[in-house]
Formats: sequence, structure tokens, C-alpha cells
Amino acid sequence: MNFPAFTDTYRQKGERKLLAAQLQKKGINDEKVLAVIAEVPRHFFFPKDFWDHAYEDKAFQIGAGQTISHPHTVAYQSQLLGISEGDVVLEIGTGSGYQTAVLLALGAEVYSIERQEELYEKTKALFNQLKLEAYLFFGDGSKGLAEKGPFDKIICTAGAPTIPTNLLAQLKITGKMVIPVGDEKNQKMNLVTRISEKEFHTQELETFRFVPLIGEQAW
Ligand code: SAM
Repeated sequence: MNFPAFTDTYRQKGERKLLAAQLQKKGINDEKVLAVIAEVPRHFFFPKDFWDHAYEDKAFQIGAGQTISHPHTVAYQSQLLGISEGDVVLEIGTGSGYQTAVLLALGAEVYSIERQEELYEKTKALFNQLKLEAYLFFGDGSKGLAEKGPFDKIICTAGAPTIPTNLLAQLKITGKMVIPVGDEKNQKMNLVTRISEKEFHTQELETFRFVPLIGEQAW
């Protein structure tokens, strides 16, 4: 990946390799995901005054009361999706755009929705500067994006009270969705696989704490 508009120092490249090694110790074992964590400059998606913190495994404020997710969370959700080259992916909660960039680097075609206008505009401008080609939308992602679906994979990066039925309907048969589901404090990562037109298999995995999914089919 080539990012001509920003500086990426040897130190930052080194910090990314260390971060990938740290995530491997925390259980991320998909080599492609680890390689992408070591490749995508997270500091580009981070407030510039705090670039020194970009390679810590921490969430961080990005404005509008929202956060860039922990690198572990990004790697965990990406690993569960098992992205193949050319997968058409719907992301709900663009935020900083870091998860979007990780999905692109994994070879996906990405449609991403953000409900905070300020973040949508900021990330759209950043993607133009970085020449990253994702389809970014402003709106309520809990309703999905029926006109661009069905999707091979769906990722929700905000915590939902239940799985929005629109998102289930927009998943291809054999497709996978990762979505944190629970109350406002804690959510279980749900991995949903669509088995047939009417059947879904849902696994409840580890506990996380996300910002809330706010919208018609959410909080
Ligand atoms: N992947 C992002 C990142 O690493 O920067 C995660 C950002 S944050 C954890 C979750 C995002 O979901 C926030 O930017 C929030 O505004 C957004 N969000 C919440 N409800 C939403 C909805 N209904 N539709 C679209 N975005 C939503």
C-alpha cells in the first residue's frame, strides 16, 4: 500500500511490527490479518497530536464522542470474517476509517456507513488524500445498505442491543457477519453465518465494550 501524502517513519514501521507481534500473543493467528496490521499505518487515522500513541493496543478519541477501536478488536473482527480477495463487505461505523483500510488491504470491496456527519466528512477527505478506494456513506447503518447488497461479509463496529433484521436480510447465503451484541456496558461478539434463506447459525464469543449503535434498528 502506498500513502504518498503522509510520513511513515522507520520507527512507526517498527512499532507496527511490534504491535502485530503483541496481537499474535493475544491470540490473533491469521497471518494475513497480522501482515495487514504490520502494513497499514494506524497513525494516519489517529489525531496527529497523539501519533506517539497510535501503536498502543488502545482505543482513542477521534471526535464526535467516538473512538478508533483497539487494534486487537480490529484484528479480532477481521479474523472472524475471514476475508477473501474480492469479498463485498458492508461496514457499519466508519469512524476513523482504520478498520475500513484494514479490510481494503485484505482485498475486500468495502461499503462503509457512518452516522456522525463530522466523522463521515473527515474520513472521506482522508481517504481522498490517501487514495483509498472505499464507498463511504453518511446515514444510519443499522438499516444496512440494501441497494448495494447482498454482502459476502458484514461488520458492525458499534454495540447493538439485538442483531438488526435488515442486516441479516442483506447477508448472502454462506456469508458471515460480526457484530457486538449486549447492553450499553458490555457486548458479546456474535459471529453469524447465513446457512440458507431462512437459517442462521450464531456463535457468541468474547466480551467487548463498544460505543453504542444508534439508529432505527439499534439503541
Ligand atoms: N471502525 C471504526 C474505527 O476503528 O475508527 C470504529 C469507530 S467507533 C468504535 C464506532 C462508530 O460507529 C462511531 O463512529 C459511531 O458514530 C458509528 N455508529 C454508531 N451508530 C451508527 C449507525 N447506526 N450507523 C452508522 N454508524 C454508526
